[in-house]
Amino acid sequence: MFDVWKNVLAEIEQKISPANYSTWFAETSLLSTENGEIKIGVKNSFHIKQLKTRYLDLITSALKNNNITVNNIAFEIQSLNKPKKYSREIVVTDELLKTRLKTFQKTSQEPTTTKHTGLNEKYTLANFVVGSNNDLAVSAAKSIIDAPGTRFNPFFLYGGPGLGKTHLVQAIGNELLARNPDIKILYTPIADFYSDFIDAVRNGKGKEFNRKFRKLDCLIIDDFQFIMNKEQSQEEFFNIFNDLYQLNKQIIVTSDRLPSQIKSVDERLASRLTWAGAFDLQLPKFEDKCAILRTKAELMGYEIEPEAIEYIAENVNTNIRDLESEFSTIIFTSEVRGLTPLELINKGSVSINRPSKLRPTSPKQIVEKVAKYYNLSVKEMCSKSRVANIKTARQVAMFILSKELTLSTNKIANEVGVKDHTTVMHGIKKIETDLKLNFTLRDQIEEIKEKIYG
Ligand code: ADP
Ligand code: MG
Repeated sequence: MFDVWKNVLAEIEQKISPANYSTWFAETSLLSTENGEIKIGVKNSFHIKQLKTRYLDLITSALKNNNITVNNIAFEIQSLNKPKKYSREIVVTDELLKTRLKTFQKTSQEPTTTKHTGLNEKYTLANFVVGSNNDLAVSAAKSIIDAPGTRFNPFFLYGGPGLGKTHLVQAIGNELLARNPDIKILYTPIADFYSDFIDAVRNGKGKEFNRKFRKLDCLIIDDFQFIMNKEQSQEEFFNIFNDLYQLNKQIIVTSDRLPSQIKSVDERLASRLTWAGAFDLQLPKFEDKCAILRTKAELMGYEIEPEAIEYIAENVNTNIRDLESEFSTIIFTSEVRGLTPLELINKGSVSINRPSKLRPTSPKQIVEKVAKYYNLSVKEMCSKSRVANIKTARQVAMFILSKELTLSTNKIANEVGVKDHTTVMHGIKKIETDLKLNFTLRDQIEEIKEKIYG
């Protein structure tokens, strides 16, 4: 009956990428067109959301081009009627899956709008899950929203990559803007601040640059760790900082570490940035991760079994960005394969991208690489020596063996030449604690991992 839908689809197919077409349109159908009330059948609520936000105009114009009156477009989930639509016999090659997945991840992460404020509307407080890993930072954020430029000024937020710094500070910006549309806010990564500054100076527009910043009510600087060692631009930033501060304008700065741990930062600037305290975002605990995944599923309108959520939460131990990405992969794969996320996991079709699984390595290799990194022989490192650097190297080796290969503490004890496993437990704990504040150590471990897998 609705052959016309084929024509509409053909037109849409011309206008978007093949990957997008097959992801979002291949399994749609036209259910009704009566009185201009268009009803389109789709797979699930996630597809509805995507089609509504991204393709409504395109669908409307393609319908109109096919002489269909369009007063309103509604979507209806059809998959319940045809649960076996993607029967298990359908062969989806890994190659195809990969290409589709890439598009899927890209589209689900694409920013919605970016205004002259530099803020992206997708980052809100409402979709920022509060947990033990971030509750202090969030309550500070809330008090800034209530009274900008007062108690937490400057607001300094730090933590490792993918833990929500950008999200939280942009959410503050969006919330301030929602409460007062006239407020002048600018969000900028420090790298952009510099390139704008350098451009302005080069084009003789230094004064305008100055004016633009000095009339702000709230300045949000992201990724401060990339501050450059150039005196002039650091000085410029310092001046703007001071001027805004004097005027009680809110300043918000994020960084992956404390200012005192960034080598190139001027001491005065470093101490001023943390005048009002420094707030950190930590790695989410198991419960935090589950809560984030549940919220995400809810927002995307996707049903996922609690056991599947727990499986993902248990297996992603890096950061929230990776958690999200793993979640998207599983949802997407389960859709394509016609299985629920848990069925997919139970089938053993999910391998969470742990480096160890991707790039196999042996305990021996890890021990060797760590020793080499610290300029020690394996024998020295695995000795009983209590000399500080040797002990640290040994503990780093324990830590990496545990995180990368998930070896038992007994096995680790064997590998690094210590007698009992409580020493190993203690060593791993020590590194975990140190990592929270010691960013040099964090960098070292990253470098060692690169050497192991690189
Ligand atoms: P960072 O700036 O620290 O590297 P981001 O702010 O970019 O990290 O966060 C990485 C991803 O994780 C983003 O997609 C963000 O929305 C998400 N995210 C981080 N923390 C949370 C949270 N508490 N609740 C919901 N999503 C979060
Ligand atoms: Mg960021």
